[in-house]
Amino acid sequence: MVKDVIYFDNAASTQVAGPVIEAMSSCMRDYPGNPSSTHEAGRKARIMLENARRSVASALHALPSEIFFTSGGTEANNAILWGCCKDLHRQIFITSRLEHPAVLNTLDALVRYMGVGLKYVNFDALGHADLNHLESLLKEHRGAVVALMHANNETGNLLPVKTVAELCMKYDALFHSDMVQTIGKFNISLPAHQIDFAAGSAHKFHGPKGVGFIYVAKGRSFKPFLTGGGQERGMRAGTENLCGIIGLARALEWSLKSLDHSMLHVQSLKEYLIKALREEIPGTRFNGDIGKHSLYSILNFTLPEGKGSGMLLPLLDMAGICVSSGSACASGASLESHVLAALNVDPNDPSVRVSFSRHNTLDEVKRFVDVLKSL
Ligand code: PLP
Repeated sequence: MVKDVIYFDNAASTQVAGPVIEAMSSCMRDYPGNPSSTHEAGRKARIMLENARRSVASALHALPSEIFFTSGGTEANNAILWGCCKDLHRQIFITSRLEHPAVLNTLDALVRYMGVGLKYVNFDALGHADLNHLESLLKEHRGAVVALMHANNETGNLLPVKTVAELCMKYDALFHSDMVQTIGKFNISLPAHQIDFAAGSAHKFHGPKGVGFIYVAKGRSFKPFLTGGGQERGMRAGTENLCGIIGLARALEWSLKSLDHSMLHVQSLKEYLIKALREEIPGTRFNGDIGKHSLYSILNFTLPEGKGSGMLLPLLDMAGICVSSGSACASGASLESHVLAALNVDPNDPSVRVSFSRHNTLDEVKRFVDVLKSL
């Protein structure tokens, strides 16, 4: 990380961990083969690939045959949702307006091109899905597909995944959870959550960008989203991003090691910031849940309006502090947040999402509060 820059945008992307860089460099140097080639170099690359799959599966208490590598979380969400429609013939999808665009825009495409029905579950003032409403939707549309994320990437709100999975089973629904923000942040047993599908992305847990995976529970399957060769056991065509996959596996292993310690550390930074904002910038409002049903690394808040508050993010940037307001978009600009809009936060008010990692320090949080006060 560039010295003196305070990087508080880890929900957008994280710094690649040192051991991950080492593992990827060694892969680039020593493994030139294509995992589909049958000669020695190819066989060696194949062994590396399957070891990485075993390592990811074991970290998530899943079977290697349940893990399929992709180009990231966006592709994973696309593949799952399209697969549920075209191969599993599900016609009704239930989601929330607070999902990530990788889910919302994919579902919009399914409505437009495949004519599926789309229902939105209500949420409360904090942004938690209304499970009674979800149950009534499931009762009315047996066999639907439910797509609800584990942790919201803007507010950090956590979904009770197991409860939702039980409701889905009761009404023969399939359950897909976008776990991009929680994989690597908790010790997760995917089979214990009883979900059908999940999406993960390496760059959210100190791995490289452009690589992720799909979890497809045993007994579920769909046809490839990308057509071409028969890679990933026919589920995802295209030569595997071997060094990215090695990096993903190493990053997951690294993140889960000493997880308890880093969780406590990050949680303490979040708690300090909540307290400091309450005490030192009265009138600060918190968006989403900030209690125990929220991810320990994300805090979203709106400052009391002040002079030049529309310039808050650029001013923070000039002060060397990286945070975000809406989610990062492809052009690099910050979009108006659909999540904050749905939670009735005025887009003209100065809202900030801070997302920590284990690399952040209390001193950085203190400097951040001082800069906010001075602005
Ligand atoms: N889902 C969630 C919840 C995310 O936060 C992101 C990234 O911001 C994605 C999906 C997309 O993942 P990727 O950047 O790997 O395509």
